[in-house]
Amino acid sequence: MTCPVCGGREVGKVGARQYYCHDCCVEFVVRRDRIQVYQVEDDGTLVAVAEVKALG
Ligand SMILES: [Zn+2]
Repeated sequence: MTCPVCGGREVGKVGARQYYCHDCCVEFVVRRDRIQVYQVEDDGTLVAVAEVKALG
């Protein structure tokens, strides 16, 4: 799994389909045909910032 935002590999799994990128500090949820990207606020709130098409 690589980060859909920065393409980095510093990605950790935090849920069934949920990942966290340590490079750009975003969480993303992998869906069937797209990836929803969330920014993590200081209080832990997830704010949707982008939606990208899943590769393959
Ligand atoms: Zn990233």
